[in-house]
Amino acid sequence: MTIGVLALQGAFIEHITVFERIGVRAIEVKLPDQLEQINGLVIPGGESTTIMKLMDSFDLIAPVKNLAVRGVPLWGTCAGMICLAKGAVNPDGTPMETLGLMDISVKRNAFGRQVDSFETQLQISGIEGGPFPAVFIRAPLIDKAGDGVKVLARLSGGEIVTAVQGTLLATSFHPELTGDDRLHRYFTGMAGL
Ligand code: GLN
Repeated sequence: MTIGVLALQGAFIEHITVFERIGVRAIEVKLPDQLEQINGLVIPGGESTTIMKLMDSFDLIAPVKNLAVRGVPLWGTCAGMICLAKGAVNPDGTPMETLGLMDISVKRNAFGRQVDSFETQLQISGIEGGPFPAVFIRAPLIDKAGDGVKVLARLSGGEIVTAVQGTLLATSFHPELTGDDRLHRYFTGMAGL
């Protein structure tokens, strides 16, 4: 049983380190063939436009969509969440091309310049053991979630920052950076490991 982490750009090594720490085999995914060997895929934080472009160049878009159709769990963190979304809007209001898998619409760089990056404690539904330390770095937020989407966490201002829809998990922040592995365990559970 193996978790794949899309390793084209961004914070993929950090995710692999967390999975290994909790005893879950994790591999870097760069090629369509590698998607055949995995039980779950993480799309990491980074720069969503770059990740989408590289997925296109590496012929990964159709195979990743197909993975979701086959019911293999996908987890998008920060930029990865933007890639998963059905709709994404740039700060200037223009739409952005995404994988279009999860029934959420997201706003990129939603927190503006003054609060570019921040850390906060989040109460996440389904995650036991107290608040989760969440690092937001030029983060997106979910401004609309469809009927089939379950909201798991909001900021104090009501912004949705964690949600799940069947086998798709989205977090606005970077859970791989804080040493708290509960979300990695949660996703491992979704992947049935
Ligand atoms: N601002 C980035 C984007 O829109 C996301 C930042 C991140 O992944 N930390 O793609």
